[in-house]
Amino acid sequence: MILEELSMKEFEKKATKIKTVIIPVGSLEAHGPHLPLGTDTIEVYEIAKRVAQLVDVFVAPPLSYGLCRSTSKHPGTVVITGDTLRNLIKDIVKSLHSNNLKRFLIISGHASSLHLAALQEAGESLLEELPSDVNIAVVSAYALAQEAASEICETEDDSHAGEIETSLILHLKPHLVKGRGKEEYPHFPHPLLTRNKRKYWKNAVWGNPHKASTKKGELISQLLINKISELVREIEKFKE
Ligand SMILES: [Zn+2]
Repeated sequence: MILEELSMKEFEKKATKIKTVIIPVGSLEAHGPHLPLGTDTIEVYEIAKRVAQLVDVFVAPPLSYGLCRSTSKHPGTVVITGDTLRNLIKDIVKSLHSNNLKRFLIISGHASSLHLAALQEAGESLLEELPSDVNIAVVSAYALAQEAASEICETEDDSHAGEIETSLILHLKPHLVKGRGKEEYPHFPHPLLTRNKRKYWKNAVWGNPHKASTKKGELISQLLINKISELVREIEKFKE
């Protein structure tokens, strides 16, 4: 059930039975010279829509902005703060809850640790504020994809806009892949924080996009769909 496509009446009727909603969270972020800025949003929303064909679940419209740190100075990246992200997620969950939904699967396509921490913090504070029959999960779709891809992909240290993400977009929206960025691995001078992040990460690729293929994208996407469908069943059964 794609929320933005339902009428008021359709939603009201479906919500008497379906209590689980997937909230996809993406980013608008440089993904190398070859992938769209909305890569994280596209990945997570497309996969969520396919999950909804297998299990009874609502899919909320995606949040298309995230907290991006390492790519914050690359062209096209738009950053929201942790405060904004926490508040947005809390408002959206509370409003969905007032619409009688009780289980919230917040799935992020964007994998920055700060961004995921903000989502987890929002989730923890929602657990305190909402009644005890509410279940919340915060999931990194990228971590699931890496797990799923361990048998499929060849690049050892693959991450942002590399083999996995390029394969996924080749499968999900092939017309949005514009060639291939060069293989790249950034070296930031940890623990120092840097202003000029592009100096350490020129093209916003982490991994090897040349190893990507449509077939790999299809396999990873299927594994992600299966894993997220399982999570929907899990969150529905979960009782503390
Ligand atoms: Zn990404």
